Formats: sequence, C-alpha cells, structure tokens
Amino acid sequence: MNFHVLTLFPEMIQQGMNTSIIGRAITGGYLSVEAINIRDYAFNKHQKVDDYPYGGGAGMLMQAEPVYLAYQSIEEKIGYRPRVVYLTPQGSVFNQTMAKDFAKEKDLVFLCGHYEGIDERVLEEVVTDLVSIGDYVLTGGELPAMVMMDSISRMVPGVLSNQESGETESFAGNLLEYPQYSRPEEWHGKKVPPVLLSGHHANIEAWRREQSILRTAKNRPDLLKKADLTNKEWNQVRQ
Ligand code: SAM
Repeated sequence: MNFHVLTLFPEMIQQGMNTSIIGRAITGGYLSVEAINIRDYAFNKHQKVDDYPYGGGAGMLMQAEPVYLAYQSIEEKIGYRPRVVYLTPQGSVFNQTMAKDFAKEKDLVFLCGHYEGIDERVLEEVVTDLVSIGDYVLTGGELPAMVMMDSISRMVPGVLSNQESGETESFAGNLLEYPQYSRPEEWHGKKVPPVLLSGHHANIEAWRREQSILRTAKNRPDLLKKADLTNKEWNQVRQ
C-alpha cells in the first residue's frame, strides 16, 4: 500500500514513519510513505502558501492553488484518482472499521491542514473523505495522518509478523482485549492467573473471552452494546 502525504512539514512524516513495525514494513516493501511538500508548489518566490481569510477573523488559511498542484502531482504519477483524506476536526471520528476499509486501497492520499485550515474550494475539488481523530483541535494534520497510517498499516497483509495478533486485538467483535502477562510468574506479589499456566487451551480461551467481556463492560459499555454475546454472557455482565 502506498501512502502519499500532502504537508507543509514533510520532515515530520519522514521522521515519524521510519521506525519499529512501520519502518520494517517499508523496508520489506509492504508499504511506502511519500511526503509531498506543498510549499514546492507555491507560485511566489518566497514559497508562501497562506493568506488572510476573506471576511476577516483570526489566523491564516492555506491557499487553494499550491494544494491543488501538489495533489495533481500524485494523480499524474499514479495515473488515477485516489481517495483523498482531509484530516480535520470537522470529519467523522476515525475508528478500526474505517481503518479496515482504507486498507483496501492501493494508494491513499492524506491532506494535512495547518493554521486555520485550507481554502474550502480545493477541498471540494479533491477530497473524498473528511476524517477527525477526536473531538479536540490540533495545530496540524500531520499527527492525525500518522495515527491513521499506523493503524491502517496494521491491516495490510504482511505488515504484522503474526497476522493473528491483529485479528484478536481490541475492537475485534466490539470487545476490548483480555489482560496479558509475561515472565516472571510473580511480580510485586501479584501472580499470573493460574489458568494461563494450566496449558488447558479451552479453559484459557474461555477465561480470555470472559475477561474481554468484563473489561469492555467496565471501560467501554458503549462498545459492549454492539458486541455479539450469548444470553449466558449477557446475564454474567448484568450480575
Ligand atoms: N479552524 C479549524 C476548525 O475550527 O475546524 C481548525 C484548524 S486546525 C488549528 C489546523 C489543522 O489541524 C486542520 O486543518 C487539520 O488538518 C488539523 N487538525 C486539527 N485537529 C484535528 C483533529 N482532531 N483531527 C484531524 N485533524 C485535525
């Protein structure tokens, strides 16, 4: 999968997307991340890409033309019109289902705003999806783009070394993941639950399922409403 990021701060993307699992997936050829500097498409000698908003008001706005030309450079390169995500607090709030959907694309473009945002007219021309990462306002779209790329990448086959770990994690089936433990068996007087040491696979699975349900009920009751539970499991939650 190829990510193309339209940004005024390409170094943020280059530095942020180069380590750990994502860095390994790029080296392994499963992903590519290209940061396109919108400033390279400025039409004045000072490479200025922002201006005052018509009608007044605080702050500056990114102008339409440099954003449009930078976007066009991607379309020309890949030869088709890709999905273009504008990161904005005004978009639909990102979640795991959306990550799965975006992971089906061959190319995905992220448009990162700055200052007070971007001239509405270019958004109308190029953007296909408005996405927010939460109900708060950040200074720019680069961190949200990296959040999205990270979670989408995990859905791309080959990126996780153990594909199964993506399928049993939090949000699969609208449940949070069960608690996990590693060595030693006892730490600060706290013991690993005996069932996990039993080697009894079915009992371990049953314990994990129960813990997932209890944890979701406690931390995210909103999710639990959408989970597929048996009558017995619902009764346990209500106790
Ligand atoms: N004036 C805009 C508004 O009120 O909707 C906010 C602009 S914000 C200061 C600058 C840029 O940061 C936005 O254009 C967007 O790209 C990004 N941004 C800020 N908060 C975000 C969020 N919660 N999710 C995604 N992107 C965000």
